[in-house]
Formats: sequence, C-alpha cells, structure tokens
Amino acid sequence: MNKASVSWVYIAIALSAILAAILWSTGWAVAAGLCAIWFYQTHKLKQLTGWLNSNDKQTELPDAQGVWGRVFDQITELQIKHFKSEQELTTAILRIQKTANALGEGVVTVDASGALEWWNIAARKMLGLKNKQDRGAPLLHFLRKPEFFSYYQKADFTHPVCVQSPVHTEQTLEIAVTEFAKGDRLLIIRDITDSQKLERMRQDFIGNVSHELRTPLTVIHGYLETFQLHHPELDAPIQKAHMRMLAQTQRMTNLVQDLLLLSRLEGSNSQPEVVHNDMAVMLKQACEEAQVSAAKLNKQLTINRHLKSRNRVMGAKEEIYSVLINLVLNAVKYTQNGGNIDITWHDTDNGLCLTVLDDGIGIGQEHLSRLTERFYRVDLSRASASGGTGLGLAIAKRIMLRHKGSLNITSQEGLGSCFTCIFPSQGKGLH
Ligand code: ADP
Repeated sequence: MNKASVSWVYIAIALSAILAAILWSTGWAVAAGLCAIWFYQTHKLKQLTGWLNSNDKQTELPDAQGVWGRVFDQITELQIKHFKSEQELTTAILRIQKTANALGEGVVTVDASGALEWWNIAARKMLGLKNKQDRGAPLLHFLRKPEFFSYYQKADFTHPVCVQSPVHTEQTLEIAVTEFAKGDRLLIIRDITDSQKLERMRQDFIGNVSHELRTPLTVIHGYLETFQLHHPELDAPIQKAHMRMLAQTQRMTNLVQDLLLLSRLEGSNSQPEVVHNDMAVMLKQACEEAQVSAAKLNKQLTINRHLKSRNRVMGAKEEIYSVLINLVLNAVKYTQNGGNIDITWHDTDNGLCLTVLDDGIGIGQEHLSRLTERFYRVDLSRASASGGTGLGLAIAKRIMLRHKGSLNITSQEGLGSCFTCIFPSQGKGLH
C-alpha cells in the first residue's frame, strides 16, 4: 500500500465518522470511527504476518504511517543489519575456505558421529573424496587402514598417526587429529612420503657406513692387541701410545656397534620377538656387570637390587637387557666413589616398572628433555672421559617405544638421577 492509499484510509475513516454523525448520532459516529480504525489495524497486522510467513524476505515491507510505519521501518532496519552480517559471515567463511584450499596440507572436519562435514582440495586428492556425494559419509569408509581405525577409536590424539594413502599406495600420510566443539574433529593430513624417504636414506647410510667400518676396525684392534702381546719389551712411551690406540679403537668399535643397533631399531617396523623375561635373572646379571665396571673405574659403589614383583616382562630379551645395562652402567659412570645405586623391579598402576636410581652427579633440568637425542651429552669433556658413545639413552628410548613402553627421567644436579622404564602390564603390551 503506498502513501496515497494510506491517506485515503484516514480520509475514509473521517468521512465515515462525519456521515454517521449527520445521519444518526455522535455515538454511531464514534462506533463507525472505531470500526474503521479496527479494520485498518487488522489489515496492517495481516500484511505484517503475511510478510513474516512468506519465504521471500527480499520483498519490501508495505508502506505505512504512524506507529505501523515506525514498526515496519525498524523491522526493515533490522533486516538490513541481518543481511549485512550474513554477507560478512559468508565472505569470512569463503575466505577461510579459500585459505584452506591454498594449503598443501589436507584439512577435514568431521562431526561428532564421525561423518565428513567439509574438506579442502588437498584432502580431496589425498583421500579421494568427491565433493557432493561424500558429504555426510563416515570418515572411516575412506581411511580403512587398521592402524588408523584403532587410532581413531582410541581417541588418544597426543601424537599423529602415519598411514598409507587410500588413493596412491606409494604415498604415506601423517594424520593429526584435534577435537573441537562438542566431539567434532579436525584432521590435518600431511604427505610425508619424501621426508620418510630421506629419513630411510639417512638410516641406510648410517647403517651401511657403520657396517663397512666394522671390519677394518676389528682388524686394526686385533693387530694392536697382538702387537702389544708380542712386544712387551717396547719403551714405556710406545707402550702408552699403544694403550691409547687400543682404547680409541675399542671406543670406535662400541660407537659403530651402537650406531648399527640404533639404525636397525629405527629401520625396523616389525614388532620385537616376544618372550617372557624373568627380571630376577636380568637384574642379577646387570648387578654383576655393574660391579665389574665399578671396579675398572676404581669406584666403591653400593649396588642394591629389589625385586618387588614376580611379573615377567614380555619382549625381546637382548633389547630389554640392553636398556637395563645401559641405565645401570650410566649410573656407575656418573656416580662418585662411595655412592649408591638401587635397581628396582615393581608393579605400578601404569604398568610394570624398572627403576635405576643413583645418588651421583645428577643432571640439570635444562638437559632432561634432550637426553635421549643421539649424541646429546650434558658435559662433553666428562662424557668423552667416561668412554660413552652418547647413544645409550637414544637406544634405550627406541627399545622402550618398540615395546610400547616409555622411559622417564628425573634428576637433580648434585643429588642424583632416577631413570624409570614403564612396560605395559601383561595383556596390554606386545602379543
Ligand atoms: P653416554 O654414552 O655419553 O653415557 P648416554 O646416551 O647413555 O650416552 O647418556 C647421555 C648423557 O646423559 C650422558 O653423556 C650423561 O651426560 C647423561 N647421563 C646419563 N645417565 C646419567 C646418570 N645416571 N647420571 C648423570 N648423567 C647421566
């Protein structure tokens, strides 16, 4: 209704009132006026409800004057604001989608029921998704690999998982999951094929070099030993030089052995062989080795073993012993004369626990997080004097991971250190 027709309504009301006043009485005139006003209000209300119920909110509200005019104006104003923020939101969403599409990483959002909601171009290529058909389909239909299935069901997303691409079998994907809102999940997918290849090449290189070095080192070491045995008459300085050469070749041999072991552990995806290991036997053997090592270093140490659990640990015997002996020999190396070492095997709520505790030199807090890196040493001069390779803890950590366990280190400089290996309880670890 336009302004002219609105004015006509008022004129009609006035005329009907005047007419009623002339023809009948003032009472009739008032009644006729009220009726006309009622008709008008009802008409406007109808117009408003009709507009509210219509699906097309783009059509303008009808014109009106007075109170209705103000109501309609305010509704129109609100509607404009609403359209503006809707447009802004759409622009923002489109921008986010464009940015996500420009990423090399795949991005996928999944709702609380595990159904696919949205994904970017990279994810479409990596997972072979089709734009329309696959929206709402379960994510696990596209990532059927057992390792991803159990990772996703377990819902422990502290670390990403590596899986073979469902589209290109030669491609390896690293998938990290983050939970947001109420159970919704965001997946970030990275193609790590190249970096994995490089890592494998690095491991192979170290493995090959170590392997090639082993034979010449054995020969040199053997000749040096023979030479020393057969020439006891040599002058003291030459004897001393011989001794140093022998010690250094021994050190290199240890280093090569540790490097070979580490590269074998890193390169192996297979589970370690599983046997039930009696820790009583291992602890006894480790204590004996520790005493010999302490004697060589001219140290008097009190080495105690405490067997508080009869549970056996499942895993590869040599690997588990290698962890134990590494920790125990480190405790011997880094504990002063007269010190104490306690080796304990016990049960905890978290699993089966092996603890090696010493009251030696300890380690500063700033070093703790890096101790299991290859060749990381707290004090370079002291470490080389101790004859270590700098690989012992890296090997121990790797073995613990292979056994689905963990290695935790606590220490205080000047007071001592505590190395704790936690193996999963029986039935939860290796099978
Ligand atoms: P290394 O062959 O040098 O002992 P490891 O990997 O076994 O190499 O240990 C790394 C470093 O951690 C060592 O150089 C040493 O500084 C520190 N460390 C390990 N065990 C102990 C310990 N029980 N007490 C003090 N420091 C330790």
